Amino acid sequence: MENYKHILLAVDFYEHCEAVANRAKDLANKFQAKLSIIHVVDSLPITEAGYGVDIPFNMDLTTELMAGAKKRLAILAEKLAVSEERLWLEMGSPKAEIIRIAEENKVDLIVIGSHGRHGLALLLGSTANGVLHHATCDVLAVRLQDE
Ligand code: AMP
Repeated sequence: MENYKHILLAVDFYEHCEAVANRAKDLANKFQAKLSIIHVVDSLPITEAGYGVDIPFNMDLTTELMAGAKKRLAILAEKLAVSEERLWLEMGSPKAEIIRIAEENKVDLIVIGSHGRHGLALLLGSTANGVLHHATCDVLAVRLQDE
């Protein structure tokens, strides 16, 4: 098996994310690979036609979410010794953005958790599932156990 050269860690900042981060860091060390980190702030719907109501796009809330995420990303990056140019803070669909950033940056392994906020009720979370099905590189879904 060829060594991985560029690993992308996808973090959602929920409780299990440290285990996923540690696995990505171990693999990066083992393969002497570059390590990048991505977090995607879910975009808010401007209108939700299905409910018959308009949800106004809240710029203040979006700015606050991005600022909070930026801080958490910086803390994690420091812990994993990942430099600023390898941090990706995006807005949109997590699945689509993880795949886009991976493709644009020649990532050869994406490391994600098997599930996130939805817990074990879903065997494979929807982001994990989407990335596994649509990524053009290898994907490691770190099996997370609920304590
Ligand atoms: P989920 O499919 O939402 O249960 O989450 C599974 C995994 O996908 C998480 O453990 C993270 O590794 C990744 N993930 C989920 N949401 C995001 C997000 N907004 N940004 C980056 N990674 C995410």
